[in-house]
Amino acid sequence: MRRLTMAQAEELRRVPGASLAFFLTDRCPVGCGHCSVSATVDGPTIRDWELFTQVVAGVASLPGLRAVAITGGEPFVERRGLIHAVGSLAAAGKAVVLFTSGYWARPPVPAWIRQVLELTSTVYLSTDSYHVDGPAGAGRDRLATAVRTVLDAGCHLVLQVLDEPGARDAAKALCPTADVSVIAPLPVGRGADLFAPAPLRPLSDFGRCHLLNSPTVRYDGRVSACCNEGVIVGAGPPGLRRQVATADDVAAALAEFRADPALRLLGRHGPNALSTIVDGPARTICQACWAGVERIAADPKALAVATLLAGADPGDGA
Ligand code: SF4
Ligand code: SF4
Repeated sequence: MRRLTMAQAEELRRVPGASLAFFLTDRCPVGCGHCSVSATVDGPTIRDWELFTQVVAGVASLPGLRAVAITGGEPFVERRGLIHAVGSLAAAGKAVVLFTSGYWARPPVPAWIRQVLELTSTVYLSTDSYHVDGPAGAGRDRLATAVRTVLDAGCHLVLQVLDEPGARDAAKALCPTADVSVIAPLPVGRGADLFAPAPLRPLSDFGRCHLLNSPTVRYDGRVSACCNEGVIVGAGPPGLRRQVATADDVAAALAEFRADPALRLLGRHGPNALSTIVDGPARTICQACWAGVERIAADPKALAVATLLAGADPGDGA
């Protein structure tokens, strides 16, 4: 099996249709104070197994899809769902990239976890202080066990840290051969109480939305146009989501997003292309996007303008 490095995984995220995120559960026992999806120990998780297997089958059968990032919540709390998803996606030739807190790494690590990891290409292990030292965090010893278990299974390891002083060095000390992914703190979900919102900026300051190359499919059949955490858990305009019921619906939902005029403009040019529809400034590209998508859904004239602009796009190949 091909083990994707962080650079290879990021390269795939830039190719339309080559990757997507699979949100396996809203549940997580760790309780990080900064959790951008507000996952909780008793949060919703898979209830309709038939729907879940349809959704997995729909993702597995997408032509051109090469990598699936399984996220949540904590994927390892969904034992049955994780085994099914990883087995089906790996059998379909997709590289599985797993995001986890490592909370499960108590020796002896259960055989089913090692079997899941053996089918997994790459593991992103969160090692910032919220994850490790939080209420039910992995703790330093468990983190070392998680690193060892992931490497023993043959996965490529990426240590994910918040952009804080010394974070990269601390990750390298934990595992010198791992890639290190440094991410900005997000003022979203529980993080909204911890991190300051971004300053207001003119729409022309924002580039195009690259996250439209990373749509998200949830365990409950909800499909999002992107991997924005708020959108995944139900915030923002309904136009950024679809509800699917069958495997075939997954491809159809993704095709609808690709055809959406507002999303085409955002993906190709950024929110400034919507400046005749949306007033700036905005704190984030997503704030401008939500305003544009809402306006277009409510106003036929705005839809006509966006359709015209998207249709006139000379680079339009979607
Ligand atoms: S481990 Fe991840 S999903 Fe769980 S609470 Fe922390 S940030 Fe949220
Ligand atoms: S700009 Fe819109 S489509 Fe892009 S990530 Fe934000 S909410 Fe999603």
